[in-house]
Amino acid sequence: MTEPLDCDDRCAVCGTVSHQTHLLSTTYFGASDLDGRPPQMTRSTMPWWVSRCPECGYCAPDISKAPATAGETVRSEAYQAQLNDPRMPDLARSFLCAALVAEADKGLASGGVVRCCLCAAWACDDAKSADAAIECRLRAAAALEALHKRGGRYVRGGVEDFALLADLYRRAGRFDDAGVAASVGLRKAGSTVPRRLMELELRLIAAADTTAHNCDYNGRGRELSPGVGRTRRRR
Ligand SMILES: [Zn+2]
Repeated sequence: MTEPLDCDDRCAVCGTVSHQTHLLSTTYFGASDLDGRPPQMTRSTMPWWVSRCPECGYCAPDISKAPATAGETVRSEAYQAQLNDPRMPDLARSFLCAALVAEADKGLASGGVVRCCLCAAWACDDAKSADAAIECRLRAAAALEALHKRGGRYVRGGVEDFALLADLYRRAGRFDDAGVAASVGLRKAGSTVPRRLMELELRLIAAADTTAHNCDYNGRGRELSPGVGRTRRRR
């Protein structure tokens, strides 16, 4: 069951109080996409994952909190250009602005930047903005690569990071880069499920497939099978 929570939040950047909706709880049925996008019902709750102050445009999961650098970031030309970028769907703009705040606070090599750019890509998918989705995926990939260069990991353990990186590049049509990431992941994958995940990515890359697929397995190492551009409910 999905439960929203309505709040009056005071913006930590400009002090304006605005009505915002947060996600109190949710659940999902079935398998996530290969890039980690959850299935329904969680899938449809994205508008509640990020808030935007209607006065200054500060975007964050919770605008009542802000890092020390947020004010300067929000007032910057780059941030305001991102906030008003007509090429991006509105929800994607909020996630990309939250990514700029996270980058100013923690640097590009940050899991928060990866997450925000990935969410922006999903928002673009829903809005059927293909070129914008590619741009968001490549920004997520750049942040993930930077994170790895620093020795960090997005997903604990790290092998799944290569599946994510492969999927980001594959969905963006960068098949050579996708193949490199999946091959590195395959070498590092020990157990059955990560190995099958990489093999599935490599098959999709060989087929020049840029569509969404899910990792439909029951958690006991059953054969992975690609979904057809959508998630499937558990029977
Ligand atoms: Zn504000």
